[in-house]
Amino acid sequence: MEDYTQIRTFLTSVRAVRQVTPLVRRITFAGGDLGAFRCIAPDQFVYLLLPPPGRTALTVDQGFTWAQYRQMPEPERPVGAYYTVREHRAGAGELDIDVVLHEPSGHASGWAGRAQPGDPVALWGPRTAYAPPADTEWHLLVGDETALPAIAAILRALPLGMRATAVIEVANAQEEQPLPTPAEADVRWLHRNDAEAGHINLVVEALEDLALPSGVGYAWGGGEVKMMNLARRLLRQRGLDRASTSLVGYWRHPQHADLPDERDI
Ligand SMILES: Cc1cc2nc3c(=O)[nH]c(=O)nc-3n(C[C@H](O)[C@H](O)[C@H](O)COP(=O)(O)OP(=O)(O)OC[C@H]3O[C@@H](n4cnc5c(N)ncnc54)[C@H](O)[C@@H]3O)c2cc1C
Repeated sequence: MEDYTQIRTFLTSVRAVRQVTPLVRRITFAGGDLGAFRCIAPDQFVYLLLPPPGRTALTVDQGFTWAQYRQMPEPERPVGAYYTVREHRAGAGELDIDVVLHEPSGHASGWAGRAQPGDPVALWGPRTAYAPPADTEWHLLVGDETALPAIAAILRALPLGMRATAVIEVANAQEEQPLPTPAEADVRWLHRNDAEAGHINLVVEALEDLALPSGVGYAWGGGEVKMMNLARRLLRQRGLDRASTSLVGYWRHPQHADLPDERDI
């Protein structure tokens, strides 16, 4: 069971905003409490806490807890979502997140579309789901655009020569990003083209045909809930047990509202 009491809330603000691809906006935070931020794992993620709708000031401080959130009157409650730390530059006290600008948007992606330098935010975290056993001989990384920040950071952090396969579903070729790594990586991009995210499952189709290497393997994944549930079941059938997989439902297509989130963590 994760110990949430160790997780803190960092008050900071937007330093810069950059469109990385047509669908992905990179928000750089700096200043405030960020100098105290410490990395815990390559897939580390934070909950982005924003002012309530229609407000410009935060209604939370460093003492934020989810118990406190539940007691706040509805109009005072922050809105937000989980985002992965795309890069943390400790020396500069800067932290980037990459936000997918999906439609329909929600509070968090809508905010990212409008974000300006100086906008205040709070970051609750960091947390992690990436826990490869020490004897891991190969990695399998799967997901959609929402997992791309974690896949990029995991690939960058892998040991020299580690065998890795990444299977990544994106809207089209314009959504591909460079993924530098010291690993022996085979990166497979899958394009939805005109199909709707979360409604098509190119990742699972690709996994069905994928030959897994011999040796001790570890699979990490993030993406739409049904994609992750199906991928997890497939990998179980292929011999990867609970300790060898960490697949997390990152978001939910409205038609999958009733699906259970079959977590590894
Ligand atoms: C551990 C973790 C790490 C994550 N890291 C990232 C990250 O680095 N970058 C990132 O962009 N997302 C990431 N996500 C996913 C992000 O938290 C969700 O996409 C979240 O729903 C966005 O909140 P929102 O307020 O914009 O939309 P919501 O209010 O949650 O949803 C509004 C509508 O948008 C739809 N929707 C939500 N997300 C998507 C999507 N990606 N594509 C298409 N439709 C969508 C919903 O089905 C709903 O209809 C992560 C999630 C988790 C759990």
